[in-house]
Amino acid sequence: MVKRKNSKESIKGLGVKYGTTLRRRYTNIYRILKSKRICPKCGSLRFKRAVIGIWKCHKCNYTIAGGAYDIISKHT
Ligand SMILES: [Zn+2]
Repeated sequence: MVKRKNSKESIKGLGVKYGTTLRRRYTNIYRILKSKRICPKCGSLRFKRAVIGIWKCHKCNYTIAGGAYDIISKHT
């Protein structure tokens, strides 16, 4: 039997490519990006990033500008 090297922290999609460090960083950013958010207007959980920097609620179409991977940019 071959043991899988994938730890619990890794996310499907990258496989064995790009090296451990980059996969770990990708996983952290991906988690932040896909985490559930509450719409400030209607309280729905369908508040997601539409494109880079634009966050949109899919229920009430409330749109605001934000960070690329999180609603609050950490590089400001
Ligand atoms: Zn909303």
